Amino acid sequence: MSQDYYETLGVSREASPEELKKAYRKLARKYHPDVNSEDHAEEQFKAVQVAYEVLSDPAKRSVYDRGGNPLGGQGGGAGFGQGFSFDDIVDAFFGGNGQRGPRTRTRRGQDALLRMRLDLAEAAFGVSREFKVDTAILCTVCHGSGAAEGSQPVTCTTCHGHGEVQHVQRSLLGDMRTSRPCPTCQGFGSIISNPCPECTGEGRVRSRRTMTVKVPPGVDHGTRIQLSGEGEVGPAGGPPGDLYVEINVSRHDLFTREGDHLYCDVTLPMTAAALGAHLDLPTLEADLATEGSDMELTVPLEIPPGTQSGETITVRGRGVPRLRTVGRGDLNVRVIVDTPSKLSDEQRDLLMQLAKLRDEERPEAQFSSSSHKGVFGRIKNAFNAR
Ligand SMILES: [Zn+2]
Ligand SMILES: [Zn+2]
Repeated sequence: MSQDYYETLGVSREASPEELKKAYRKLARKYHPDVNSEDHAEEQFKAVQVAYEVLSDPAKRSVYDRGGNPLGGQGGGAGFGQGFSFDDIVDAFFGGNGQRGPRTRTRRGQDALLRMRLDLAEAAFGVSREFKVDTAILCTVCHGSGAAEGSQPVTCTTCHGHGEVQHVQRSLLGDMRTSRPCPTCQGFGSIISNPCPECTGEGRVRSRRTMTVKVPPGVDHGTRIQLSGEGEVGPAGGPPGDLYVEINVSRHDLFTREGDHLYCDVTLPMTAAALGAHLDLPTLEADLATEGSDMELTVPLEIPPGTQSGETITVRGRGVPRLRTVGRGDLNVRVIVDTPSKLSDEQRDLLMQLAKLRDEERPEAQFSSSSHKGVFGRIKNAFNAR
């Protein structure tokens, strides 16, 4: 272990603090990685830093002058020559990842994402869909090797197949060895001198193919279906990535969906709301019904007498099938009472008569705050306050 900090800085053992500083500044400027792109400039820069750190500190300089290890007491005794690895520093500077040897040409292909638009009923009850996808498939001429028929990749003569080249530089801190990917073969260790004409050496070619995806019942807007191994084939015939199909659901004329539940509004005449009514509500599955299918086209809906505008009637189990499990959500029907806006003379007379019977000729309005929505509002506010 020979490290002469004075030599590193190029000063005499009697150098004054001013001389040290001057020498350090000159060398730091010379080797600073921002201005010096030569090999090992970074290591030199580091060595200069360490030398100056020791010599500029009178206590450390004194230890060093007496033959001691000025950095030995730091960090639990891990000073130079005591587990201090130069590779670590070099790797930190050069972004080395500790990987050794040639890298493989073969890599996993990328995942792909495509979007598929479905009607609400298709998303709810599932559907099989054909679609076309542009992707990379294995080159059938070279089967992924990238080399033309009858030829093979040859060992790189620059790195002799190692995929990396080493630089050794002698320095005061000993031999410093750094390695970097071989520039001739890009680190592969071999060269395809006679590339496959079909794929120009890529090992894969672009192709458009038709696929079928089986969309399970219950998918929602934004659901992604993973098709394992249906993405593009990787470089040099590497394993394929996955293909994701993202579901986009179109708006429905009648139903809106929240989770497994369906919502719709039904507008009723005032009289029907008061007297009660029996309705047949179209089902969502009616959208998919074909001739002869046994799907229910309607669902009976009982409006009890005295239903208020805004009331919701829930039909259990007529919502959306739950994804990958059993059961269905609910269908929630909100009743909107239609107040007649045009009355014939006879209708007016009848309504006046009714009002008289109900003692409503001079109606007493009941005023209230809108706090009957209060519980919901408070919960919302509590969430927002966080
Ligand atoms: Zn090929
Ligand atoms: Zn090489």
